[in-house]
Amino acid sequence: MDKKQQPLASLRDRLTRYMEEKAMRKTPERYEILRVAGFAQGIFTIDELMQLMHEHAEFQVSRATLFNTMELFCDAGVVIKHPLATAAHYEMRTDNSPKAYVICRQCNTITRVSTSTARLALQNLHVRYFSIEDTLVYMHGFCRKCQARKRQEVRKNKKLSKK
Ligand SMILES: [Zn+2]
Repeated sequence: MDKKQQPLASLRDRLTRYMEEKAMRKTPERYEILRVAGFAQGIFTIDELMQLMHEHAEFQVSRATLFNTMELFCDAGVVIKHPLATAAHYEMRTDNSPKAYVICRQCNTITRVSTSTARLALQNLHVRYFSIEDTLVYMHGFCRKCQARKRQEVRKNKKLSKK
């Protein structure tokens, strides 16, 4: 097994344990969706997962099935869900190190940022009587594109007001 498949194999085990605990049916669809979600580079939406299913899956499932399965994956702890205003974004939960993200208020894009500083600050964070599973930090602001667009608008409005 190569290094890239290792985290996916442990997610598969985790999913199996979860479904056994909950006495759920271990359907081939669920494992196929997990396998295909492993092709996603970082954060993905249901639409992007649907596209990956078309490209890589051995059989197709409905959008509703994908959505429900992702909810199951979140409960099982194999996927992280980022609850954005526009649409939920997901990410494989390959490890539980602290993670930081920037979210643009204008276009709603979410990007994972390098967390070396955040990790140092957050990995020793303990809360009494609470078992922390994930440490996710969200920073809200404006992305580069939207900042440029904003500057352009300001310039345009200045010109208009001078006329
Ligand atoms: Zn933006």
